[in-house]
Amino acid sequence: MRCPFCGNVDTQVKDSRPAEDHSAIRRRRLCPACGGRFTTYERVQLRDLVVIKTNGRREDFDRPKLERSIRIALQKRPVEPDRIDQMISGIVRRLESMGETDIPSGTIGEIVMESLARIDTVAYVRFASVYKNFQAADDFDKFVSELRPDSISDE
Ligand SMILES: [Zn+2]
Repeated sequence: MRCPFCGNVDTQVKDSRPAEDHSAIRRRRLCPACGGRFTTYERVQLRDLVVIKTNGRREDFDRPKLERSIRIALQKRPVEPDRIDQMISGIVRRLESMGETDIPSGTIGEIVMESLARIDTVAYVRFASVYKNFQAADDFDKFVSELRPDSISDE
């Protein structure tokens, strides 16, 4: 695993333990070149998902990107981190079990909104308001960049 700080590819695993109710393995890694520490997660991937945008472009499903948008929507909300991890794993499992490897980006947005609505109304409204603005463009990158932490005001 390449060190995200210095690019060295020879990093060491210092600790491995089950995470997310045993659906993942969390590894603490150390880079001997720069001393950097980082964490990786190992998960079962049932199939390689491809996101289809409305403009027809295909791109590999990017779980970290999905996580980022969900965590931003949930910022400063009283939701346990474990609950958030479980929700994200649940969303990915739903996508993986849809029987199709090609998934329209709109379907992902709908599933995220459904899941957020169940755990936190404020996060749901945040996500939905930004999402609906970008539904026409249907550009998830733009959507994620719009949903920045500084675009969320303190309540
Ligand atoms: Zn390094």
